[in-house]
Amino acid sequence: MKKYRLALLKGDGIGPEVVSSAAHVLDVASQSTGLQIEFVELLVGMEAYRTTGRTLPPETMKGISECDGWILGPLQTGSYPKDDKDYPMSSGKIRKQYDLFANIRPAKSYLNTLNHIDLVVVRENTEDFFPNINLHKGYGEFWVDKDTVMSLRVIRRSSCKRIAKTAFEIARSRNQKKLVTAVHKSNVLMEGDGLFLDEVEHVHEEGYQDVKLEQKLVDSTSMELVTNPERFDVILTTNLFGDILSDEAAGLVGGLGLAPSLNSGESYAMAQAVHGTAPDIAGKNVANPVSEILSSAMLLDWLFSRKGEERKVFETARRIENAVREQLLSQNPKDKTIDLNGSASTQEFTSSLCMRILANS
Ligand code: ATP
Repeated sequence: MKKYRLALLKGDGIGPEVVSSAAHVLDVASQSTGLQIEFVELLVGMEAYRTTGRTLPPETMKGISECDGWILGPLQTGSYPKDDKDYPMSSGKIRKQYDLFANIRPAKSYLNTLNHIDLVVVRENTEDFFPNINLHKGYGEFWVDKDTVMSLRVIRRSSCKRIAKTAFEIARSRNQKKLVTAVHKSNVLMEGDGLFLDEVEHVHEEGYQDVKLEQKLVDSTSMELVTNPERFDVILTTNLFGDILSDEAAGLVGGLGLAPSLNSGESYAMAQAVHGTAPDIAGKNVANPVSEILSSAMLLDWLFSRKGEERKVFETARRIENAVREQLLSQNPKDKTIDLNGSASTQEFTSSLCMRILANS
C-alpha cells in the first residue's frame, strides 16, 4: 500500500499552531480510512533563518520535491531580515520554482444553514502586480525618482490559458451552477485584461461549452459579492483581484479563520490557508485552525482528482470536511474558537474535531 509523504512547513506567527493542528487531524482521519501518511517536517521562515541563515534553505526546496504534497503555514515575508537570500518572499519562490500557477480559494457557508454561499475564486498565481515573482531577475516595482514608484504588471497569454482551463474544469467538476465569472477591469487595463478575456473566451469555445461563461468588472463584482453572493459559482481572475475578492468572500462566510486555499500546478500542490501570520494572537493557542485543516483536505482532493490517487485519499478528505461542517454548526461554544465567538483553544478545537471524526467513522 502506498505511503503518502506530506511536507509540513510550519512557517511564522500562528503557523506552527495551525499546521500542527492540520497534521493531527489528517493523521486521525487517515487512520480511520486506512490511508498511510508520513509527515516530513522541513524548515521555512524565521525558524529556518535562525538555524540556517535563510528563510527558504535549499534542503527545504529539495525536500518538498520528494513529497507528494505540501502543507505550508503563513510566512511573515516582507519583514524578513534584509540579509536573507530568499528575501522578500519564500512562498512566492516556491510557487514560481514549482510553477504552482493556480490559487484555488473556496468560500462556503459552514456556520449556518441560512445562506448558501458556495463559490470558488480561481486566481492566477504567478504574475500580474506581483513584484517579486513576475521577473526572471530583479523586482517589478521601482523608484523612477525619489517621489515616484512604478509597478510592473505582467499578463501572459499562456498563463491566462491555463488558469482559464483550471477554472472551467473546476466549474464542471463541482456540478453546481456550472458558471464561470471572468472578473476584469478591461475598460481601464485595456491591454492586459483584454488579453486575459480574449484567452478565456478562446478556452471556453474550444472545449467548455457545457459551462456558462460571463464577464464582469471587478468593481461591480465586489458589490454583487456582498448583495448577492449566492449567484456565484467559480470566479476566475488575475492575481491581485483574486487576492482581494477571496478575502471579501471569506468575510461573508465567517472570516479568515475559515478560508482555505490550495496552490496547484501540473505536478505539485501546496495547501496554504488564506490568512497571514496573525502576530496579534500568535503563540496564544487561540488561532482558528480550520483554514489550514480545510486547505489540507483540498490537497487530498487534488491528489485524488489530479494525480489519480486511491479512493481512500478522497474519503479521508470527506471525513475531515464533514466533521468540520458538523462542528461549526454546533451551538456549543466549546466547539468553536474565539474568532467565531466560541471558547475553544486551538488544541481543544482540534481534539473535539478528531473525536468527531472517529465517532463518525
Ligand atoms: P500578515 O502580516 O502575516 O498578513 P496580519 O495580521 O496583517 O498578518 P492576517 O494574519 O491575515 O493578517 O490577520 C488579520 C486579522 O485576522 C488579525 O487580527 C488576526 O488576528 C485575524 N486572524 C487571521 N487568521 C486567523 C485565524 N486563523 N484565527 C483567528 N484569527 C485570525
